[in-house]
Amino acid sequence: MKIICIGRNYVDHAKEMNAAVPTEPIFFLKPDVALLKDGNEFYFPEFTNDLHYECELIVKIDKVGKNIDEKFAHKYYSQVTLGLDMTARDLQQKCKEKGLPWEIGKAFDNSALLSNKFIDINKLKLNDLDFSLKKNGQIVQQGNTKDFIFTIDQLIAYVSQFITLKTGDLIFTGTPAGVGPVSINDKLEGYIFDEKMFEFTIC
Ligand code: MG
Repeated sequence: MKIICIGRNYVDHAKEMNAAVPTEPIFFLKPDVALLKDGNEFYFPEFTNDLHYECELIVKIDKVGKNIDEKFAHKYYSQVTLGLDMTARDLQQKCKEKGLPWEIGKAFDNSALLSNKFIDINKLKLNDLDFSLKKNGQIVQQGNTKDFIFTIDQLIAYVSQFITLKTGDLIFTGTPAGVGPVSINDKLEGYIFDEKMFEFTIC
């Protein structure tokens, strides 16, 4: 399986990063070893001094597809969940400044934190879905899918022009505003509406 992450899919987050609002989707990949499921321990990596959370809605791909038309994209997924695109912001920033790929800041082991629960999209209004992240009990990020720059169907259509999607692949759909640093012992809890989806403590 592969993990496809969308960058800058919310106007407010693009602004807080002092980045342009994209006119077409931006994506990057994380390897399978980046995946860390809820219930496992996340250790603060030694190579960064500025580790950030990015809470994101995640779509699980249900079947193989290539060059998927936007109007058929909804047939390729039936479940969503929540997770964190953990980012070594200092390393990412260095890469950005030099025009280099971001992998050392984004694709490292255990950098894709994932809830164990998946929610059937028929039980949700996918185009008006609230999610949030609490750090040590305080809400630090609040997102709603109506603020997506690119919808899930548009993302699937775009990415599948370049890369074949396979069953089990995950698409991290981008983070809303409010990204910030974590320290050892911080507790991160993610919610879709009022349902708790994950709880990670930084070790
Ligand atoms: Mg992200």
